[in-house]
Amino acid sequence: MNNLNNLLKAASFAAKKHTGQTRKGNDAAPYINHPLEVAVILSNVGKVEDADVLIAAILHDTIEDTETGADEIRELFGETVCGYVLELTDDKSLPKQMRKDLQVEHAPHLSTGAKLVKLGDKISNITDVTNNPPDGWSLERRLEYIEWGEKVVAGMRGTNEHLEHFFDELIAQSREKLSNSEA
Ligand code: NDP
Ligand code: ZN
Repeated sequence: MNNLNNLLKAASFAAKKHTGQTRKGNDAAPYINHPLEVAVILSNVGKVEDADVLIAAILHDTIEDTETGADEIRELFGETVCGYVLELTDDKSLPKQMRKDLQVEHAPHLSTGAKLVKLGDKISNITDVTNNPPDGWSLERRLEYIEWGEKVVAGMRGTNEHLEHFFDELIAQSREKLSNSEA
């Protein structure tokens, strides 16, 4: 099975798994837009060419947010992809704040592939928090999210200079935009 075929298979698999789910922004965009965007960011901005990493980007929220088991991913996409997705899966039985703290704590210890996906994930989510935030989020909460994202990314420096530079520019623009909206 070639890489291109597996990439398409992952897009189709994730689209089916995320059926009916929407992003939290007021445009209620289909959820699948986000994992696809993460993969595009890795390819376009990060110049990532490793198919397993791009496939893991597309699948990164399936175990956490849909009825998908690790076995299913292992069988269809192999051990490496499955390993990345598991590294990127929060333990939903834990309280939300603890999950946030654990992401900061665990980020430096992730594999390089998982770090790349997490960098793309933070870029995608902070772009949304800036331009299309979840319904009902105050300015303070949006700024808190950006600050938390910076802490997670701080533990993954030295992974991909293109992504990290893009992230830094995004943060500067986000703060600028949010400080203007405060005025
Ligand atoms: P989350 O941090 O879980 O919500 C953000 C997550 O939702 C993102 O990481 C992203 O995850 C997903 N998402 C879906 N749609 C969007 C979108 N449009 N923009 C950005 N992200 C999106 O929020 P919680 O509700 O879980 O709250 C977490 C923390 O916030 C808690 O620790 C709590 O203490 C704190 N909090 C702060 C408040 C305040 O006013 N300051 C109020 C309430 C809570 P994915 O990549 O998985 O899709
Ligand atoms: Zn995500």
